[in-house]
Amino acid sequence: MTTNATAFQPLLDSIAEEAPVYYGQGKVNSSIPGLARVDPKQFGIAIATLDGGVATAGAAKVPFSIQSVSKVFSLCLALDYMGEDLWTRVGRNPSGQRFNSLTRIEQEQGRPMNPFVNPGALVVADCLVERAATPIHTLIGFLRKLAHSQRVGCDYDVAKSELSTAFRNYAAASLLKEYGNLHGDPRAVVGAYTHFCAASMTCVELAKAALPFANDGKDPKTGRQVLPPGRARRVNSLMLTCGLYDAAGDFAYRVGLPAKSGVGGGIMAIVPNRMAIAVWSPELDPLGNSVAGFAALERLTRDGDLSVF
Ligand code: GLU
Repeated sequence: MTTNATAFQPLLDSIAEEAPVYYGQGKVNSSIPGLARVDPKQFGIAIATLDGGVATAGAAKVPFSIQSVSKVFSLCLALDYMGEDLWTRVGRNPSGQRFNSLTRIEQEQGRPMNPFVNPGALVVADCLVERAATPIHTLIGFLRKLAHSQRVGCDYDVAKSELSTAFRNYAAASLLKEYGNLHGDPRAVVGAYTHFCAASMTCVELAKAALPFANDGKDPKTGRQVLPPGRARRVNSLMLTCGLYDAAGDFAYRVGLPAKSGVGGGIMAIVPNRMAIAVWSPELDPLGNSVAGFAALERLTRDGDLSVF
């Protein structure tokens, strides 16, 4: 079945119209000074379909900080470098702890529960620091290729501001180093990781970059296999189980799609064999997910019949 983006336009318009209902119900991330300055009352959504179509509503062309959504893309690069050996250093199960918790590192003897909690993403970043000449350029290059946009870049001000307050990530990296699961210098690894999180993209760019995950790794525009066969299926399974912080179960119940969120207020979601979706609204619920973004995806999958279940 081919999905046509324009058929979803009325639904996207209606979702964007409804978004202000959720304004004020969450809080913009305040732990990263560069994000606290963002106007909270914004909402954008974009879908990109396998036939090359794109439909948008609201602020879909406003760049935002993708934060933890970057963990999906850095994971793919680390898997390119290390293959299945990566899983000797990082697990594939939900952590049951906050994304930046140090407790689990101790409990698991230095092997993070999954690549989407901060300790796991730090191990992933370590793989890139070890093998890429300039890890942030490698990541941005990958995002530009997937999104077909040279505009995608790193917001160095956001990265710099986060580095001034990244004590918990420094602590996590130091603990991982102590357990022998970080090869590089903890400061260099946190530096690379923080710059990955500061990647700046619009909903349109993010939806396009996510599209190969809906198409078994093929870029529908060029026909090129941009992720090795099987990679999308596996990374999607991690997104479904570990992609929404401690709300992955609730998200699977209410939305029913593999997805990854970030504290910048973005959520990227995959509808296998049909489309990719990016939604953004900066105000977050207590678990760190965009309030309006979560609600938008719930309505889109319900009214658009897009859940994988
Ligand atoms: N850079 C943020 C941190 O490390 C990312 C958090 C997130 O989006 O989950 O805390």
